[in-house]
Amino acid sequence: MSQAYPVHARIDGPVVLIGLGSIGKGTLPLIERHFEFNLTKMAVIEPHDDQHNFLAQRGIRHVQTALTRDNYREVLRDVFPQGGGFCVNLSVDTSSLDLMRFCREIGTLYIDTVVEPWAGFYFETESNAQRTNYALRQAVRDEKARHPGGTTAVSCCGANPGMVSWFVKEALLTLARDTGRETPAPGERDGWAALMRDLSVKGIHIAERDTQARHLPRPRGTFVNTWSVEGFVAEGFQPAELGWGTHETWFPENGNRHEGGCQAGIWLDRPGAITRVHTWCPTPGPQFGFLVTHNEAISISDYYTVGKGPEPEYRPTCHYAYHPCDDAVLSLHETFGSGRIQEREHILTEHEITGGIDELGVLLYGHERNALWFGSRLSIEETRDLAPYQNATGLQVASAVIAGMVWALENPEAGIVETDEMDHSRCLEIQRPYLGPVEAHYTDWTPLTDRWSQFNFVEDIDESDPWQFRNVLAS
Ligand code: NAD
Repeated sequence: MSQAYPVHARIDGPVVLIGLGSIGKGTLPLIERHFEFNLTKMAVIEPHDDQHNFLAQRGIRHVQTALTRDNYREVLRDVFPQGGGFCVNLSVDTSSLDLMRFCREIGTLYIDTVVEPWAGFYFETESNAQRTNYALRQAVRDEKARHPGGTTAVSCCGANPGMVSWFVKEALLTLARDTGRETPAPGERDGWAALMRDLSVKGIHIAERDTQARHLPRPRGTFVNTWSVEGFVAEGFQPAELGWGTHETWFPENGNRHEGGCQAGIWLDRPGAITRVHTWCPTPGPQFGFLVTHNEAISISDYYTVGKGPEPEYRPTCHYAYHPCDDAVLSLHETFGSGRIQEREHILTEHEITGGIDELGVLLYGHERNALWFGSRLSIEETRDLAPYQNATGLQVASAVIAGMVWALENPEAGIVETDEMDHSRCLEIQRPYLGPVEAHYTDWTPLTDRWSQFNFVEDIDESDPWQFRNVLAS
């Protein structure tokens, strides 16, 4: 018996997906499931032809081309002849800023999951400061400041960046309740920032453990991951980055501040994918994560700042602490050890994965209850039951895109927004059926628990404050 799914909104005008990779292919059936729209106006812009039949069987037009700086206006004009509709950007190597700017010009709603640059940016930009997500994000924030309001463009609405910003708010309300300070959800940014400060949260790890695996051992020379290999390698080679909180008393030797912009973040002169941090997730407990740069590390620190500039009254530290699937850890080991990016790549499919979960949440630390992890623990088995063509990692992203699209359709003139700025409870209401168990876990663990110094090794740690970044960063 076919299942009835809620139709959340109607999209007038064309629905256009850019990119039909692992996330695009998982998102498309959810768009079909949850929106009413005219299929004859739907198009997918995708340079490869391997999914051509998939699209043809569904009656969807395939525009087989790669968007470039030179052709994007012409291609988008062709698929949005009268403007309107929705542009869902799930590609690599396309400029999010240029695409959202054009969509807003023609009155087309827009959503993406990262601030993606045009091809070449990640490996050809000479200055490391310019290769950061801080710089990419700041360009979008500057566009918002120059052109406030207007057609809604949702920036960075995947799982992370994206959903995790909604989890931060839910975790704050949970912590407030559990420490006897129950409060209604603040309506404005200032209220949220004050709440985080008043709960004495020192910082946040976006703490993820992906345990999805297949039977076949990773073949040497192949980069294996649960989502875009190209995307992960690109961000892994960017400098490590983090939002820099006001409780930090130490500054990394290889740390750098930015000259302009919001001043919420710093970058380290070292690739994120070989920068390890001590972190915690419910399944493994303490674990290493990689300090891979992500937009949300900066956006969350910025959003929860009380005051302004480089020395505000309050700001939380925030960064990603990512333990990808074991095959991806081995792949990175090979990439950085050999100095070469593998020629072969593989994204694990829902059919070959034999077990595991993507456990993705936010670890709020340094407060009265020490640390609280709040997040989704979605298994591959549940994923297969919930939606086709994707693994657990993909579904956490695709369902956030759907939630962001619903919000945009309900708020079509909100201008450029980040997920921190959206109504988190409405978005989670849409997304939650796809997240498996969403749970809160407190832990007594700190970055000083069971350190190697117990075996007489010398470590550069600060015993007076467990939650200093100096202790989080693995030497
Ligand atoms: P993927 O590598 O599987 O697919 C990317 C697709 O983009 C490919 O099909 C490719 O052919 C297409 N593409 C490449 N160049 C293009 C161009 N110039 N014009 C149009 N299409 C082009 O990647 P994925 O796993 O599907 O990820 C898609 C995007 O989503 C990436 O930018 C990735 O970083 C992002 N992502 C975000 C999150 C999040 O949680 N925020 C999570 C996973 C992926």
